[in-house]
Amino acid sequence: MTTTPTGEGMMRAIWVEELGEPDVLRLRELPIPVPAAGEVRLKVEAVGINFADVLASAGQYLTRTRVPYTPGMEFAGTIDALGEGVTGLEVGQRVASLGGRGGLAEFALSPTAALIPVPASFSGAQAAAFPVSYFTAYFGLRTLGRGVPGEWVLVQAAAGALGTASIQLAKQMGMNVVAMASTEAKLQIARGLGADVTLLQDDPERVQKVREAAGGRGVPLVLEVVGGTRFQESLDMAANLGRVIVIGNASREQADMRPVELMKRNLSVTGLWLTSLMQDQELAQGAAQELAKLLATGNVVPQVGPTYPLADSAGAFRDLMGRKTTGKVIIEPQR
Ligand code: NDP
Repeated sequence: MTTTPTGEGMMRAIWVEELGEPDVLRLRELPIPVPAAGEVRLKVEAVGINFADVLASAGQYLTRTRVPYTPGMEFAGTIDALGEGVTGLEVGQRVASLGGRGGLAEFALSPTAALIPVPASFSGAQAAAFPVSYFTAYFGLRTLGRGVPGEWVLVQAAAGALGTASIQLAKQMGMNVVAMASTEAKLQIARGLGADVTLLQDDPERVQKVREAAGGRGVPLVLEVVGGTRFQESLDMAANLGRVIVIGNASREQADMRPVELMKRNLSVTGLWLTSLMQDQELAQGAAQELAKLLATGNVVPQVGPTYPLADSAGAFRDLMGRKTTGKVIIEPQR
């Protein structure tokens, strides 16, 4: 069925007029958007909240945030209208979108190119928890990290959205996982997903213990998300010829790096930004195909964390930054 809609009334949405702390997220009545050519409209079931959403609304992200806007870079729901010229998609189909913005609303637009197919067995929340974390984990472990079966990988913030995705994918790839997190309850989650060794982030002997876990040689691959003083530790934990993939800077502290240090153990440090990787069609399609195979095993299931109604979007943002959450923080706009 094809529907080319015109204006259709009002919806509830989050609207940000100026950047700042999460209080800037205001609930508003806005017109239901109309899909342009090449776009679809989703009735949004669930929105995955990422560090990047919070940083963007605070004006602290890698790119400048244009205001006013509705945040919500990854979301899932059912297609309820098709823009002109859209083929191969149907009203009523459940999809996820990495549309970049607009998810925190009852209805959201997505370019068809940003749609991500999800298994029919996924709930809306699981579908919304998938795109950012699993594509990032895949690119970190395989595309840039070149991880191979039997290798050790260090996963930081292991109970978070990216951390849980990274553990699941690493185990499916046959890798061994050292997981770090800030509390014993978070380590328990990591163990439940198959982490082989778990360590508290503040364990005074953490560097030595990580090195010992990987046969005393250090880990060949580090997915680095904390930054600041922890960045140097990631280098210290890495094995000779180790690869450190810089994915995040959750500490929001600057790190000092002396390139000469890399020479001693032949280390490489590689940055990873999902947005620019997804713009490379070949890389994005290759990752999508490999992820589809891993999903088909039934062993890769997005970990849904706390869920919030649309009106408490600011609370969701605060809890994520306050390290209070595990799995993917979800907002359900129909609530
Ligand atoms: P998470 O669900 O992992 O939540 C963030 C976690 O970071 C916290 O739960 C906490 O875990 C840990 N953390 C460590 N230090 C701090 C700190 N000082 N303040 C707050 N949290 C801290 O979030 P995401 O999965 O959204 O993101 C995880 C990281 O990955 C972020 O740094 C994010 O920017 C990055 N990322 C980068 C992408 C890219 O394209 N480069 C894409 C996706 C994510 P604990 O309490 O266990 O330490």
